[in-house]
Amino acid sequence: MKIYISADIEGIAGIVNWDEATRWKPDYPPFSEEMIKEVQAACEGANSAGAKEIWIKDAHGVGRNLNFSGLPTNTKLIRSFSGHPFCMMQELDSTFDAALMIGYHSYAGSDGNPLSHTLETELSYMKINDELASEFLINAYTASYIGVPVVFVSGDAGLCDHVRQINVNVNTIGLNKGIGDSVVSIHPQLAFDSIKEAVKASLKGELNKCIIPLPKWFKVELSYVNHTKAYKASFYPNMKKISATNVLFETDDYFEVLRMLSFVV
Ligand SMILES: [Zn+2]
Repeated sequence: MKIYISADIEGIAGIVNWDEATRWKPDYPPFSEEMIKEVQAACEGANSAGAKEIWIKDAHGVGRNLNFSGLPTNTKLIRSFSGHPFCMMQELDSTFDAALMIGYHSYAGSDGNPLSHTLETELSYMKINDELASEFLINAYTASYIGVPVVFVSGDAGLCDHVRQINVNVNTIGLNKGIGDSVVSIHPQLAFDSIKEAVKASLKGELNKCIIPLPKWFKVELSYVNHTKAYKASFYPNMKKISATNVLFETDDYFEVLRMLSFVV
């Protein structure tokens, strides 16, 4: 089995503040260590389910949070961003059997996490076909686009509810419950053990039940915090400006959605 892991930080156990997610801030090191631990747990779970090869995308910020410490030797680490529109799913292709998401978080416009956002905090929300969109959904559609199921997601509890609403077969572990500007977190050791066991179980299940069907048509609305960004984005080909802060893009090809996002967000 060849496994892909996309790892973010805003949904790891205990994280609550942007200073803890920002590389140059003094509060950051224990949280990057926790991110590595949770990726390590996923790798151990995958290996006990029979993984031969695991590719890990460091998908937070500038993509320089993870290192190989504690990771098994059958891992490859994708650090920084190439500029390819797959972005947080860079290098994913149809040779992978399944994808996992670690440290994922609630979407912009939801109250599941003090750090709720979608792609960048410059967006107050993003909608796909009139529903608020998450990074989980954007990246799960990328995986569906090339036929790879996302079988496991760990992150905040609000995100896990959202994932179950989209596809109940995707296994989730909620580590933090967001309440206003606070979180209630489970113990990191329990997070480690739960991720490891759940990843193992997920990879022994029926993987293809986790594929999320791609819509035939994509209507993507971006709402910017700052109207000046919406003005600039409105010059992307086929983009329509629908209000001072909002733009709309429509296509039947999901890759065009990803290409657009890589230029305007
Ligand atoms: Zn992030």
